[in-house]
Amino acid sequence: MARRTLSREIPAITVSRRGAQRLKDGHVWVYRSDVIPADGIPPGSLVALTDERGKFLGTAFYSSASQIAIRLLSREPVEDLETLLRMRIREAIAYREGVVRNTDAYRLVFSEADFLPGLIVDRYNDVVSLQVLTQAMDAESVRAVVLSELNNSLKPAAIIERVDPKIRELEQLPSRSSGVLQGEKTTTIFSMNGVKFHFDALKGQKTGAFLDQRENYAAAAQYAHGEALDVFCYQGGFALHLAERCSRVTGVDSSRSALEVADQNAALNGREIEWIEANAFDLLRDYAATGAQYDTVVLDPPAFAKGKKNLETALRGYKELNLRALKMLRPGGILVSCSCSYHVSQADFLAVIAEAGRDVHRNLRLLENRTQAKDHPILLNVPETAYLKCAIALVSN
Ligand code: SAH
Repeated sequence: MARRTLSREIPAITVSRRGAQRLKDGHVWVYRSDVIPADGIPPGSLVALTDERGKFLGTAFYSSASQIAIRLLSREPVEDLETLLRMRIREAIAYREGVVRNTDAYRLVFSEADFLPGLIVDRYNDVVSLQVLTQAMDAESVRAVVLSELNNSLKPAAIIERVDPKIRELEQLPSRSSGVLQGEKTTTIFSMNGVKFHFDALKGQKTGAFLDQRENYAAAAQYAHGEALDVFCYQGGFALHLAERCSRVTGVDSSRSALEVADQNAALNGREIEWIEANAFDLLRDYAATGAQYDTVVLDPPAFAKGKKNLETALRGYKELNLRALKMLRPGGILVSCSCSYHVSQADFLAVIAEAGRDVHRNLRLLENRTQAKDHPILLNVPETAYLKCAIALVSN
């Protein structure tokens, strides 16, 4: 029987009733507190999961360090990990072929949402950038399969690894630096929605650009007009898209290096955009005091709520930003307001914007209630895969 073969080959882990219920409910994680102590199981192992009565629940990756001890890989026995990984990567690529349009930059693999927990792969034109988030994905044997399949499927000019030292530390993995895994190219130019961007694989945040906003850039550009302000503009994602429609565009960010790239991006597209290096909160306060007015304002701050604990503070932060933006918008203006904090629900986020509208006596019509681009799939039953909110509203008196 398959089950017996499997249990001889890979270690078994027993999960508590609560953990088993979580898996039955469609989730793919089991927390350490729901794992019956698993002494002697090597970090990053492929494991067979059973409930307390010995019933097989699935095959998973085990982490000896993370609070997320178990990440489900399959609800079936897995006899050949390599074949499964290769198939999942090919499926992830095929999914993008169906849903991604007008871009040569998009996320190819989004961890749990592509049933490849712990692996993120982004494509920027001919350069592929990957991130490894777990012990299991860091195993040399697994890395070799991932690289080989990405090569077979995409034939990129280069594959680069981006390392987040904090994640490696949490997973108790030896430190490692970002670098080229294959090929030589580390820079390229990519385009989305007809707008061009510089990409430097070894610089910048995340794996490079904020690909999850790609569809929101195009949506925002549909409504944008007049004088526009892109607050938290990073390398100019929104600002460059708005420039097609607006008479004047200003981008604000506290990071000088991000603005330098933003400026190069503007030149690449033949656009004139004003970039201001400032703390957005201070700048908006000053602008409000001087009565500055805009027709389009974008707010795309970093995640304010890193955990459930500071949710209230985060909501206050969003409220303040939205209040200030609304005060500056002329009647008929467009507010594009984003939040990438997973802990802030879409309902909470809209409530905060509504409240801000009430406080400044503006009416807001919700034009679009958006989320992350489809190359960052949301796996229903795994709420953690849905994190980005982007509300586009028409403001009137
Ligand atoms: N809108 C961007 C992504 C923004 S990410 C895009 O689509 O590409 C958040 C940005 O906020 C980062 O570039 C970061 O440098 C900037 N930032 C963080 N805190 C800030 C602050 N207090 N004032 C201004 N910018 C800030």
